[in-house]
Amino acid sequence: PHDGPDFDRAMAVRKANLPPGILTFYREPVYINQGYMQYLWDTAGKRYIDLFAGIVTVSVGHCHPKVVAAAEKQLHKLWHTTNIYLHPKIHEYAEHLVSKMPGNLKVVYITNSGSEANDLAILMARMYTGVYDCISLRNGYHGASPYLMGVTALSTWRYNSPTGFGFQNAMNPDPYRGPWGGKHCRDSPAQPGRACDCAEGECQACDMYVDQLEDVMRYSMPKGRVGAFIAEVIQGVGGAVQLPDGYLKKAYEKIRAHGGVCISDEVQTGFGRLGSHYWGFESQDVMPDIVTMAKGMGNGYPMGAVVTTPEIAATLSSALHFNTFGGNPVACAVGSAVLDVIDEEKTQALSANIGTYFIEELQKLRSEFEVVGDVRGKGLMIGVELVKDKESRTPLAAEEVTSIWEDTKNMGVLIGKGGLFGNCLRIKPPMCISKEDVDYSIAAMRIALQKHAGK
Ligand code: PMP
Repeated sequence: PHDGPDFDRAMAVRKANLPPGILTFYREPVYINQGYMQYLWDTAGKRYIDLFAGIVTVSVGHCHPKVVAAAEKQLHKLWHTTNIYLHPKIHEYAEHLVSKMPGNLKVVYITNSGSEANDLAILMARMYTGVYDCISLRNGYHGASPYLMGVTALSTWRYNSPTGFGFQNAMNPDPYRGPWGGKHCRDSPAQPGRACDCAEGECQACDMYVDQLEDVMRYSMPKGRVGAFIAEVIQGVGGAVQLPDGYLKKAYEKIRAHGGVCISDEVQTGFGRLGSHYWGFESQDVMPDIVTMAKGMGNGYPMGAVVTTPEIAATLSSALHFNTFGGNPVACAVGSAVLDVIDEEKTQALSANIGTYFIEELQKLRSEFEVVGDVRGKGLMIGVELVKDKESRTPLAAEEVTSIWEDTKNMGVLIGKGGLFGNCLRIKPPMCISKEDVDYSIAAMRIALQKHAGK
């Protein structure tokens, strides 16, 4: 049972009192009442497998009992002090989080969202280098604040209003859809976890994209100097586009040669989701100067963070830095419980095993259906790109994508959607998903694809 407004009333309120542009998935929106681990239930009691986890946010499971218990315990003790007085939880959490970070990434700023974290990271990079101009990759999403709209290079999310100044968007090294690479390095589906089939260090497309990145600095940056470079290892909102192995390593070298610092946006790829590594950047064997995180960090509780080196953090002490809610005791208790659960339940290994199985099963769908153009990803960060046909790679029309997607929803499977053309299915479930859930989801997708193909 639920104690809120009924569906019709909710829709009326939504229309009259909530932002008109608010994103509502599905022709008939799902009205969710409850969640537990990898499942959601609507107000009529129908169960769904949640393959999108509130946009990759529920990391260890909806209402995970250990996380709920930690929040509840803290709720009865202390909610808030704005860090003007010491409280134990932020110290406990900072130490805990830093124990998961490699190298000299030792100073933690806790925020309330990913956008706040990226705003702060870019400010820090500019303060530290003394250079204003920065670079992000096209097709990347880093947040929606006016500052970050210049960093997020997806026109879907940009308004006709001045966006954050001082950002250039370099070409995106997309091995499937990018102008270079394409059929040369992605003729066949890549192995699960790999972005392209080229041997590491031998992808010519990758080198061409790195050269283009360097051109941006040479041509567009005063004296060729850059403040920061920010990238996701697998672009989430962009449709689970994986950067080719070796790209980030070479890109970081170039950026540093031009005086810049490197920021890894781990808002979607962190906390073990890629399976092979705790942080996405580790899967590319690079060491960022600044790491940003949010979403899975609180398993759905709003929190984010910037983690950086003491040297970079020191530059922010030239003025007061203040965030009313960042690092509040409840968030820190939740964040710490999430880190514990990831260790105790071997979540990262689960993500690796189930994710690889999921990708292999999706690749079977790719060989069965002409419209399944690409299957990619690593661990439980998976994308399926729907196309008109495999040869042309033309994105499948939005209406057709929607009908496949709605059919899977009607069968009780919630999948995400994204990419510039809206033709990428995004599969990023809570990391406690089981093999049976994968089998059911694949069966539902197969039925929806068969219906679409008229079989
Ligand atoms: N970075 C990435 C990679 C994201 O996917 C998002 C959110 N989709 C953000 C930053 C911004 O996070 P938030 O919505 O919490 O501000």
